[in-house]
Amino acid sequence: MSFIAKETLEAEACALWATLKEKPLTPKERNALAQQPMPVQPPEERKHNMQEVAIGYSEAQARIEANRCLQCKNAPCMKGCPVAINIPGFIREIAQGHYAEALGIIRRNSILPAICGRVCPQENQCQKNCTVGLIHKDVNQSVAIGRLERFVADWQRAHEAEAPIDNTVAPATGKKVAVVGSGPSGITVAADVRRAGHEVTLFEAFQKPGGVLVYGIPEFRLPKAIVDQEVEGLKQMGVHIEPNFVVGRTRKLRDLMEKDGFDAVYVGSGAGLPRFMGIPGEELVGVFSANEYLTRANLMKAYDRAAAATPYYPAKRVAVLGGGNVAMDAARMAFRLGAEEVYLIYRRSRAEMPARAEEVEHAEEEGVNFQFLCNIERILGDENGIVNAIECLRYELGEPDASGRRSPVPVKGSEFTLPIDAVIIAIGNASNPLIPQTTPGLEINRRGNIIVDDTQATSIPGVFAGGDIVLGAATVILAMGEGRRAAQAINDYLAKE
Ligand code: FAD
Ligand code: SF4
Ligand code: SF4
Repeated sequence: MSFIAKETLEAEACALWATLKEKPLTPKERNALAQQPMPVQPPEERKHNMQEVAIGYSEAQARIEANRCLQCKNAPCMKGCPVAINIPGFIREIAQGHYAEALGIIRRNSILPAICGRVCPQENQCQKNCTVGLIHKDVNQSVAIGRLERFVADWQRAHEAEAPIDNTVAPATGKKVAVVGSGPSGITVAADVRRAGHEVTLFEAFQKPGGVLVYGIPEFRLPKAIVDQEVEGLKQMGVHIEPNFVVGRTRKLRDLMEKDGFDAVYVGSGAGLPRFMGIPGEELVGVFSANEYLTRANLMKAYDRAAAATPYYPAKRVAVLGGGNVAMDAARMAFRLGAEEVYLIYRRSRAEMPARAEEVEHAEEEGVNFQFLCNIERILGDENGIVNAIECLRYELGEPDASGRRSPVPVKGSEFTLPIDAVIIAIGNASNPLIPQTTPGLEINRRGNIIVDDTQATSIPGVFAGGDIVLGAATVILAMGEGRRAAQAINDYLAKE
């Protein structure tokens, strides 16, 4: 879709809402309404700043969008939400202008609506089965559930005094719980366990809590002030946060239980170990894992060259290898760090790309040069060991592999070279082996993920785990859902002790 200015979208929505609000809409009239577009920053402007790209619905837009919902009795949308939010319930409240009530309904199932409303892959989850999208035969015409969720969460942040978040904690139980890792799963466990009256300490390896929400997903997709507010809420509830504390190194997990008096431990240490290609030239100066590249920019603010001391690698021509959200984030970040040309190299076709459609669209609008059915064969460097080119090979799609996706097959003789200053590898992450290696008796599978039962309990009594360390690199809402289940199991376990 071509770019439409925020002011135009808001003015159109205001005029439309002025006519719609006069009388209740019939289902036919609801169906005739098109999905409200998300106002965004102009591509040429935003690729040089770190501010959020998607600006958020205005009130009129939210009211119109909420009125598109048909309030289906069987609510197929809810089946697509991993935490089963009462979607028609909260949308009905927005349609009536009751935003605090809408938020109350969402928060029964999700404590991170401002985050999930922004980063959930909605087109493959709640919005995939929305009746409105099915009627229009277009998932892009489904009710924009995520954007409405974001709207009410942002409304609450702007009206805190009117609609405060209830951070009440039950009387102290005398039990102590350690939570390892402060990503979405750790934050969820810390909140739910603390609410039950247990003492909670959140151990985080980095200097700042938030996990991938602070060091991975860029500011232009998820403002860090939102994550900071969630962490502040935990502190207000009395959760004790220990940054710069690496469980397995600073203190072993078993010592937390056997020497430090913790009655239960939750491991939510994520999947932060980057995978590499194993190709010639990967050791050259100017080759980064996406994790390192994004962490420098997000957590250490490399983009803020006037204020941050983070070493910054000046690169005008950047190649990013991969096709997921991480690759998209790295490619778009490269522009914001000063690149003039950014290539996204992916060995399958556009249809197989795991990244969210919206992120691919935004990357395209910002000028990322997509090289589909292409792979890097080797990275070339100059006499000082500094990257100066990549050698690539073209591919074509062959038979489907075990995952059902058609496997890429190299096209003989299709090699070509691109002059490049920096290469970012974004082909996936694995679990960090530190905790399993330093915790005898903690069972893991062959991929290094911790094995849990359906209550998130591990092979060690009193130790629970969830999120990416169990699922492999997954999503924020799945990590949060696992955290919810684990917190319930920890509270039950402590009640029985
Ligand atoms: P994490 O968020 O990884 O947090 C784990 C925390 O544990 C980290 O802070 C880490 O420092 C800490 N830790 C690790 N080991 C130790 C230790 N030994 N001691 C103490 N602390 C430790 N998902 C989406 O749904 N939508 C998206 O758009 C999206 N985009 C993404 C973009 C990027 C760049 C990345 C990397 C991921 C993205 N994801 C996205 C995936 C999503 O962020 C993760 O699935 C989710 O954050 C996992 O949550 P978690 O709590 O399991 O772990
Ligand atoms: Fe949809 Fe995610 Fe919200 Fe569930 S949490 S309703 S999947 S946006
Ligand atoms: Fe509303 Fe779509 Fe859910 Fe039906 S499926 S209740 S239209 S959001």
